[in-house]
Amino acid sequence: MKKIEINSKEKLFKKIKYYKTILYSRVEFVSQIDDSEIDSNLEGLEIQGIIKALNIKNKWKRVEFMYDYLCELLDNYYDGKNICEFCDNKCLAQQFKGSTYENGCCRLCKYQSPTGCTSSNLTCKLYYCEKVKNKNKTIEYKDLKMMKLFSLRQRLIIKNCFFSSREEMLLDLKVGSIVFYAIRILYRVLRNLIYVKTKIK
Ligand code: SF4
Ligand code: SF4
Repeated sequence: MKKIEINSKEKLFKKIKYYKTILYSRVEFVSQIDDSEIDSNLEGLEIQGIIKALNIKNKWKRVEFMYDYLCELLDNYYDGKNICEFCDNKCLAQQFKGSTYENGCCRLCKYQSPTGCTSSNLTCKLYYCEKVKNKNKTIEYKDLKMMKLFSLRQRLIIKNCFFSSREEMLLDLKVGSIVFYAIRILYRVLRNLIYVKTKIK
């Protein structure tokens, strides 16, 4: 297999959309980027993830790898930070409004539990309301260069696929039909509405 050496992060980020094409399906990418450029900050972790992803030639395995890699990266970034300032089960926005609701954004979802989300949803991990964003540094979709390795359809799904499990989201990302996704997300919205109504009774 032909090898391509990646010796600068600028080159990697600039050429990422070409490297993901079929033209590079028989190429192994080797990082020659100076260690001082790859540290444990967000960009450094992304560089490592992008090169690993480019070397996974099966497109579904690559999608799965990137999904889990980004979820883990976000989990590690927020680990130990109560960024939504939960207090007595109410998030910052709920406290501010004096709401009787609990559990923040997750209150409308069947995957909520007293200990947090029972699944791993990339869309939810990337979402924070303005109240949180005005007070804290959050990682947003636009901050992540690895997103360029997903197709346009997959990126649309990643931006909008709330209230879904990891497995549901991965299936949406893998099946190449936006109509299929739209039907499935509509079903999930209805399912969550029924779930919430049943819970309130
Ligand atoms: S993002 Fe905003 S609304 Fe959602 S849980 Fe956090 S504080 Fe609450
Ligand atoms: S899928 Fe999203 S909304 Fe549902 S519990 Fe998990 S984080 Fe909350």
